[in-house]
Amino acid sequence: MKPPQSSFPPVPHPDSRKAPGPDSHDADATHNSRRLPELHDLQRLIALGGSALDARVLAEVTDGADRYPLYALRLGNPDPYAPVLLLTGGIHGVERIGTQLVLTQLELLLARLPWDQGLQADLEHIRLVFCPLVNPAGMARGSRANANGVDLMRNAPHNADRPTSWLLSGHRIGTWLPWYRGALDQPMETESAALCDLVNAECATAPFCLSLDCHSGFGMRDRVWFPYAGSTQPLEQAAEVHALVELYEAANPYHRYLFEPQCHQYRTHGDLWDYLYHQHLQRQRGASNGPAVFLPLTLELGSWLWVRKNLRQITSFTGLFNPLVPHRQRRILRHHNTLFDFLIRATRSWQHWHPQGSDRDAQQQRAIQRWYQESGH
Ligand SMILES: [Zn+2]
Repeated sequence: MKPPQSSFPPVPHPDSRKAPGPDSHDADATHNSRRLPELHDLQRLIALGGSALDARVLAEVTDGADRYPLYALRLGNPDPYAPVLLLTGGIHGVERIGTQLVLTQLELLLARLPWDQGLQADLEHIRLVFCPLVNPAGMARGSRANANGVDLMRNAPHNADRPTSWLLSGHRIGTWLPWYRGALDQPMETESAALCDLVNAECATAPFCLSLDCHSGFGMRDRVWFPYAGSTQPLEQAAEVHALVELYEAANPYHRYLFEPQCHQYRTHGDLWDYLYHQHLQRQRGASNGPAVFLPLTLELGSWLWVRKNLRQITSFTGLFNPLVPHRQRRILRHHNTLFDFLIRATRSWQHWHPQGSDRDAQQQRAIQRWYQESGH
C-alpha cells in the first residue's frame, strides 16, 4: 500500500505552505530584482505555472538585513514511488548561467504543458523537481560562496581520500580565501542542508532518481560529471551511468559533452553530491529487491571557451563564469535542450534501459575500462 503523497521536508519559514507570488515578498522585492533578476524570473515562473507547479520555500536565507527565499518547485506525479528528475543550479552564486539554464528549461516545459500530450503523459509517470537558485545571497553579491563566506560545494562533513590541493580541495582556514568549507563541527549551512533535505526526501522511496546540477567555470568544453569528487574509487552504480551515457551517445553521436567522474579533474572535500550518494547507499543497504538507482550528475559548462572568444571577459570576475555577450548567452541557453529532453525521457523509461544481471556486470566492466583504468586518476 503506497502512502498518498510525498511532502517536502520541514521548512523553517512560517509562510512555507505556498510560495509567495512575485509581489508578496515585501519591500525587498524591488531591491532584490535589481541585484537578483533570477529570483524575479523564478517568481514570475511560479505565477505562470499556477496550480501545475507545487512551489515551496525550503528555507529563508539572510544576508544582513536582506532576506531571500530558497525555492523548490515540483511538476508532475507527486507519488513518492514515482521516478524523479531533479534540476538544480546556482550553488555557486557567481555562476548565474546555471540558474538561468534551469529556469529556461522550466519555462520551456510550462509553455509546452497546455498542448503537448507527450509531455503530459510523461508527467503522469514522473516528477520533475527544480531548485534553480540554491545560493540566492551569493548570487545577489556576485560571489561564489554564500553570505557567510562558505563554498556550499565543499560544505558536507566528509573528507576526500586524496585531495588535490590544500586550498582548492576545500579548507577551514578562513572566509578570506576561496573554497572555504566552514568551521569544523559546525552544522551545514542553511542552503546546503536545505538542498540535502530536499534530495533525500524526494529520492527516499523513488525507484529511480536522476539529478543534474548546473555549474560553470571549468575548462574548455562542457562536461557531465558524476561522483566521486572526493575519491578515485569507481562509483557503485557506474554501470548505470555507463548505460545512460551509451544511450545518449547512440542517440546523439555528435554531442558536445565529456562524460567523466569528477575526480578526473580535481578532488574535493565535502562535495554535496558525494555526501548525498553515500546517504543513498546507506539507505539502500539490505534493500530486498536491489538498490534503487540514484545518479547525481553535474553539468559543468566550459566557460573558458567563452573567455577565449571574448578576451575582455578576463577582466571581469563575472565574465569568467558567465557569457557577457547576449547572443552567446542565448546560444548557451538553447545548446542543452537535447540533454534536458533526454534526461526526461531516460527518467520516464528507466525500466527499459537500466542494466540488470549479467548485462549490468558487463556495463560495470565497460565503465571501469572507460573511466578508471588510466594511470594518474
Ligand atoms: Zn560551480
